[in-house]
This record gives sequence, structure tokens and C-alpha cells, in this order.
Amino acid sequence: MAISIKSPREIDLMRQSCKKLAKVYEELEKCIKPGISTWEINEIGDRLIRENGGVPNFLNYNGFPASICTSVNEAVVHGIPRKDCILHEGDIVSLDAGLIYKGYHSDAARTIMVGKVSKEVEDLVRITKESFFEGIKYAKAGNHLYDISNAIADYIKPHGYGIVRELVGHGIGTHLHEDPQIPNFRQTKRGPKLYPGMTLAIEPMINLGRADVEWLDDDWTVVAEDGLPSAHYENTILITDGEPEILTLL
Ligand code: MG
Repeated sequence: MAISIKSPREIDLMRQSCKKLAKVYEELEKCIKPGISTWEINEIGDRLIRENGGVPNFLNYNGFPASICTSVNEAVVHGIPRKDCILHEGDIVSLDAGLIYKGYHSDAARTIMVGKVSKEVEDLVRITKESFFEGIKYAKAGNHLYDISNAIADYIKPHGYGIVRELVGHGIGTHLHEDPQIPNFRQTKRGPKLYPGMTLAIEPMINLGRADVEWLDDDWTVVAEDGLPSAHYENTILITDGEPEILTLL
């Protein structure tokens, strides 16, 4: 599939879809406190998406049973919300969610700290977020895709964290997952050239320990094999003639 270049009209719709998702996160993040279950987080998130005029795009995607992915501590991504999964002080939960508005998808992820977390986990969450911002410094027309991947990887490297390789960022538009795939680890091939009008979901997934992951028996939840915490940060961005526009932030 060729990488889609959005028209001004499509870019406007992407902006609207993404701003709605940003508003959902603004509200949803406030609800994350010790004692809440991941089931409740999904209920609230699903309601916020619909109240904002969107349709949850994760629900039933390849059979995923919820609107919000809730991945706790060593879970990297695709955690399934559960009534018996209660968050406690010191946990982290990675939320991954998206919506469709007028046919256009948005996608973003945040790792939320539940109350006070350990210094090493706090650093992991912060540095994962920072690596996204480092990566998008290179998300400019005329650069190549590997400039983004390599910037993320080089930012993470001195911290000794494991960069997840099995899951990557992606193009986004009329489909949740479009070309290109956007790895967060070092690339030798340049990959496609970046042009204005491309919309990309860039999403470093970073493990405190080793990079290896495995899938749980629910066939969805991806966890760090060594059981150490993992963090995720994602926004949908737009390549422009100048600086990239982060669409899923208010
Ligand atoms: Mg994504």
C-alpha cells in the first residue's frame, strides 16, 4: 500500500478526529486513581469517545473486546480491561485508544502513573515520552523514515532500556493501520521519504529491562518477558512544510 498523502480537506478531518481523542484523554487521565479497575477505565473511555462524537476504533478491531487498551506494569500494549484488575498506588497503566470521526482515525497512547511510583519507573515513563519528542524533531518533509526511528533509538540507548521490536508505529488515515511501519529501533535502510500531508502514529514502547516480549494466553496482552515495567507514548502527527503538527495534543 502506498503511503497516503492527505488533501487539505482530509487533514482538517484528521485534526478534528485527533482533537476529540485529545479531549478524551484529558478527561480519562483524571480518573486514574488507586482503586479503579481497568474495566472502569474502559467504560469511562468508551463513553467519552462517544460523547465527543467519535466511534471507538479499537473495539472489535481484529476481535479486540474493548475500546481502551489497558496495559498494567509489565504489560506493554493490548491489555484487555478486566473487572478484577484493580490499580494500586505505585502501578503504571498504559492506555492506548483511538476513535473514528467522519471516516478518519486517530490513535494515541499514554502511560499513567498511579499515585506515587518508584524513581526508576518514573524515569522510564518520562524518558519514553521524551523519546517521542526527540523522534518527531526529524519528522520533516525531505527526511526519511529512519531519521525518526534512529532518533528515538539513540535517545533511549544511554539509558539501557529495552526497545520493543515486535510492535511499531504506523501510518494512519481512513484506516487505523496504514503504511509505513515505523520502528523505534535503529534502522540501516532509509525507508520512505517524508512528504507534507502524511499522517503518522509514532509510538515508542520501552521496557525497563530487556526488549523481549511475549503474548499472554488471552492472545492479546503483550508483556515484557522479564516481568519488568514497560511504558508507551504515542501521538498521531502530521508532516508539514515545516515543523510537524502533533494532532492528538490539545
Ligand atoms: Mg498506534
